[in-house]
Amino acid sequence: MGRNVGRRTKIVATIGPASSSPAALRELIDAGMDVARVGLAHGTPEEHAAVIRRIREAAVERSVAVLADLPGPKVRTGAFPEEGAELRQGETVKVVAGDGPSTAAQLEVDFPGALDALTEGCTVGLGDGTIVLRVEDCGSGGATALVVRGGVVRGRPGLQLPSQNLAVSVPTDADLRLLDSCLGEGVDMVAMSFVRNAEEVCAVVDAAGSDPPMVLAKVETAEAVEELDAILSVADGVMVARGDLGIRLPLEDVPHVQKHIIRTSIAAGRPVITATQMLESMVTSATPTRAEVSDVANAVFDGTDAVMLSGETAIGVDPPGVVRTMARVVERAEQEAHYTQWGAKLGKLQRQSQVSTPMRITDAVSHAAWQAAATVEAAAIVCCSRTGGSARAIARFRPIAPVLTVSPTSRTVRQLSLTWGVESFLGTPHDTTDEIVWYAIETLVKQGVLAAGDVVVILAGDPDDPDPATDVLRVVRVR
Ligand code: PEP
Repeated sequence: MGRNVGRRTKIVATIGPASSSPAALRELIDAGMDVARVGLAHGTPEEHAAVIRRIREAAVERSVAVLADLPGPKVRTGAFPEEGAELRQGETVKVVAGDGPSTAAQLEVDFPGALDALTEGCTVGLGDGTIVLRVEDCGSGGATALVVRGGVVRGRPGLQLPSQNLAVSVPTDADLRLLDSCLGEGVDMVAMSFVRNAEEVCAVVDAAGSDPPMVLAKVETAEAVEELDAILSVADGVMVARGDLGIRLPLEDVPHVQKHIIRTSIAAGRPVITATQMLESMVTSATPTRAEVSDVANAVFDGTDAVMLSGETAIGVDPPGVVRTMARVVERAEQEAHYTQWGAKLGKLQRQSQVSTPMRITDAVSHAAWQAAATVEAAAIVCCSRTGGSARAIARFRPIAPVLTVSPTSRTVRQLSLTWGVESFLGTPHDTTDEIVWYAIETLVKQGVLAAGDVVVILAGDPDDPDPATDVLRVVRVR
């Protein structure tokens, strides 16, 4: 069999104060970060742009996608005194509903339903996310929270609650302004918070212009779970946003909803990220809990495309150490995962609803490619892909052979950093399918990932087709 395939489940890491310097970003990339998530809930567009540029500059050795996360409705506290207030680690603070001023002892929050979002044990970020509170007690008069990480706050800082009031539809006006500014930075993907239906996703796709980034829907409301099929028909991927899901749904439902979302997304050929509290204790500790290790491994067994780190890399004590830990746990779990059964399962899960003719062709040809690769024990499945569609289609089967993609578009190369098992290379544009295939093989041989004697299964399409489909399947012996 072919080359060592390495880790196949991708790692998304959230960038924050602990990880946004050039040196810290380089360390995260070396540790294995595939996608850098920039939360737009705090900071200014100029600060987001600076972080995005630093990520690009740091990603020299390896392609890393930039995912900009639109915050949805934003909750703020009442104003702190002009000189600021210090929230000290180990002290407690009351969180109450109201529009009065806030102090180090009491945060006033004027947002309908905001306090309902607080549950015992949940973590709340304040300001730029440096200050972290953990809710210890929830009562009718408000909540009491422990300051886990302290700092000085001024003005009306944002409160990053695990859930926000959903009476406001998304995208908000603020989301659209943020989208506009991050489009200018050429982000590869945007994630939408608190999506409830396909129309809301379409609003962002429409606002993103003629060359949009991938639009990912964070599934964190009960409505989004209900509307999953419709959302997947318009979104380019989804996130199982377990923090808010665990508030909107009974907590005990979350693992099962996670499995349902992952299964449905894979069948739809859309990448899916499993997010939140995966290695949470590593925000402050050098080692994870056994339960966290188990959670990461189980997400791998569920077949997730990617696992995500939030506070662990944004404000944690050792962001690269957390990524390395996650990579180790993932790689070990992949040795035990039953990938050979995926294709068979998928047969029962084929995309149901009215899919277009090109999509049906791509589905049929990628299915045949998966079978052919198994029959010839292919060294690799090679996707010649402009948009990444064929790579995402073959990844649905979670094939044993490595999936190598050659694309003439650097954005596609970066975007595939989110898709399970796909390794991507930048190629050059060509006019005919024959040339595309030939040069793709040449690129991969030059990169040292293919060698003479390898048998590879190739997927490609007609470069001039205005309605592109993956309609070419070849089995080639590399000479
Ligand atoms: C979540 O709620 O799990 C989530 C990922 O969203 P955010 O981190 O933006 O709150």
